[in-house]
Amino acid sequence: MSRYFCHEHPDVLTLETRIVDARPGAVVLAETPFHPGGGGQLADRGVLRAGTGEVRVTGFESSGGRLWHLLAEPLELAGTVEVGVEPAFRALMSALHTDTHVLNALVFQHFQGALVTGAQLNDDGTARMDFDLPDADNDRLRALEPAVNEAIRQDLPLRFGYVPAGDAAREPGLLRSRSVAPPPDHEGLIRVVEIVGLDRQACGGTHLASTGRSRPIRILKVDNKGRHNRRIRIGLVDDA
Ligand SMILES: [Zn+2]
Repeated sequence: MSRYFCHEHPDVLTLETRIVDARPGAVVLAETPFHPGGGGQLADRGVLRAGTGEVRVTGFESSGGRLWHLLAEPLELAGTVEVGVEPAFRALMSALHTDTHVLNALVFQHFQGALVTGAQLNDDGTARMDFDLPDADNDRLRALEPAVNEAIRQDLPLRFGYVPAGDAAREPGLLRSRSVAPPPDHEGLIRVVEIVGLDRQACGGTHLASTGRSRPIRILKVDNKGRHNRRIRIGLVDDA
């Protein structure tokens, strides 16, 4: 898993930085506050400002260990620029991501260590998680909603750290995904996201500083996805 600036500095959304490589409509930056997406999380949105102009960052492309920021116009840029991550979108992804950890922790605890087989966060305030749960009663899954909201209400703090990949593999439940183990970084470390008192799991996404910064959620739907998988859709409750 790559180490991102946003892991160490989740609150820094605007940054002055240098273009270190460029082609028409794309740049590599010396430092970037953007999360490029992955593991079901959508990439950050935002802008790049150079001189008096501003261009939208429309996506990311990773190649040769470098992150290309794709621009909405075929500009050829150089020198110093200011980049800005869209705060509302980052906050939405971080909230949904934190809430999926809460849900995932409760499924893991109540359903004999069931693992995640897929996850997707959406820009409409909903998310889905798939679990390897061949024998689960869907009503019992739906009944987790109050426990998820209780964990949000308790405003549990999140902590972030790194553990060696070998230790991560030995700690039961730390690698929560059935199919993909996050790759270690160049020092052989895996990032661990802890919701204090509830859950610890390897993850490279963005999250809230505490669960209480999320709105409550609803469990919108529980579906059977094939013989083994259950798909749980959640949605943030609208602001009143
Ligand atoms: Zn996460």
